[in-house]
Amino acid sequence: MYELLKKDGTAKRGRLTTVHGIIETPVFMNVGTAAAIKGAVATTDLREIGTQVELSNTYHLHVRPGDKVVKKLGGLHKFMSWDRPILTDSGGFQVFSLAGLRKIKEEGVYFNSHIDGRKIFMGPEESMQIQSNLASTIAMAFDECPSSVADREYMQRSVDRTTRWLIRCKAEMERLNQISDTLNPQQLLFGINQGGVYEDIRIRHAREIGSLDLDGYAIGGLAVGESHEEMYRILDAVVPHLPQNKPTYLMGVGTPENILEAVDRGVDFFDCVYPSRNGRHGHVYTNRGKLNLFNAKYELDEHPIEEGCECPACRNYSRAYIRHLLKAKEMLGMRLCVLHNLYFYNTMMSEIRKAIEAGTYKEYKKEKIAGMREGSSGDL
Ligand SMILES: [Zn+2]
Repeated sequence: MYELLKKDGTAKRGRLTTVHGIIETPVFMNVGTAAAIKGAVATTDLREIGTQVELSNTYHLHVRPGDKVVKKLGGLHKFMSWDRPILTDSGGFQVFSLAGLRKIKEEGVYFNSHIDGRKIFMGPEESMQIQSNLASTIAMAFDECPSSVADREYMQRSVDRTTRWLIRCKAEMERLNQISDTLNPQQLLFGINQGGVYEDIRIRHAREIGSLDLDGYAIGGLAVGESHEEMYRILDAVVPHLPQNKPTYLMGVGTPENILEAVDRGVDFFDCVYPSRNGRHGHVYTNRGKLNLFNAKYELDEHPIEEGCECPACRNYSRAYIRHLLKAKEMLGMRLCVLHNLYFYNTMMSEIRKAIEAGTYKEYKKEKIAGMREGSSGDL
């Protein structure tokens, strides 16, 4: 179901065929945490800005409105009116970063909801059941996300537990996919590599989970405060040990430059809140660097955010108008900035795919990064 169409150096151009359609990779998944992209962006907008995969959050949807409610309403696709692929994360990251007081046991994690404080238990089986109720296209395995500064001994014990949890996730997913009232009996499962900044722990873990024949493999626990160089060093070390005939997903990354570097190292799935979060603050991406539309110099600027951009914001509106909306706190201001930023990311991924196909990825990457760095307006 995953086809490796072409390699250019170590960069991969792939295609994942799913029950909800084809995903051309490398791909950037657009993050809609609580079944909506923050910034008043609807799924009807996503069709216009080149979104291939929407990403929703298991923990958030479990807490509110509840995965059983979503199941009663026909699953996430019907609920949010989106017929293309959806990836749900496992909830692990949020349990370890958002939830209050938690206790990690072999069976799973006990914690308090960040909404109303009520006690919740989530383990591998519960995470799979929730994701099965949501009926996403791709489910993520439930893993422990240890602190990036965890010592070696803790990291090794944590990674071993994550492997045992992964085996339980796989068994539970297989069971759920055979139950008659399961909404998406063809749900896919991606495993997650952990190990912090310890190369040897990551490599051993990559080999272990690689032998489980999952539908894809993610690299978790990066982009949590380590330097970019350190992240690239880990990718250089671990990606060659993950199965080449399966998709490779770098979770939570990143800036356009991070993505260009990770693609070069063989990663083909990405997600990040940067484009929507920055857009909500009036910070917009262009091929000549990031702009801050709050700056006074845009007051009379009748140009679009980026000349030649085909996004709904640039096709119709000037920097001056969007700046006014942002200053007046009109919701439309942030919405237009988020649409432009997601379009920028999605379009960059399409350029990346074409460059790999043409065998010119290295040159493309160099030029793209140079343009964004050297052309920077100095705004941000
Ligand atoms: Zn635009």
